[in-house]
Amino acid sequence: MSVLITDECIICDACALECPVAAILDDSNEKNLNDSKYYVKPETCVECVGHADLPRCAEACPTEGAIVWDMPYTTDYEEYYIAGQEEGKYNIRVHKKKGMMLPSVKSKPFRDDISIEDREAHMNVGQF
Ligand code: SF4
Ligand code: SF4
Repeated sequence: MSVLITDECIICDACALECPVAAILDDSNEKNLNDSKYYVKPETCVECVGHADLPRCAEACPTEGAIVWDMPYTTDYEEYYIAGQEEGKYNIRVHKKKGMMLPSVKSKPFRDDISIEDREAHMNVGQF
């Protein structure tokens, strides 16, 4: 990861089918803890690396600020994702044998041309 869907989301359904790895859950999906916005699974999102030049979800999204950068889903940010899980910000999948699919279990590709500062500031993906 990843990208993050914010409260700016207007639930328009333009993004989910664009995702090449089915990382986006709509507001009615039981695994989505939010009923007022879509949700990106950080343990699944690959930032469209190997699929497209730009994140497809953000290209399809009509709402500025609805899809923003989040931290890479790598072991450097293991504690960040654990804290987010505890806060209810994420709902990371729990595998029967492997346990929670944290970055230490399976890290994901990310775009290294996006700075950590821009990720920390949750900059709008569409502006890059
Ligand atoms: S950045 Fe790509 S892989 Fe990640 S949620 Fe958006 S469309 Fe899916
Ligand atoms: S395209 Fe944007 S506004 Fe529409 S559901 Fe996805 S994140 Fe929300």
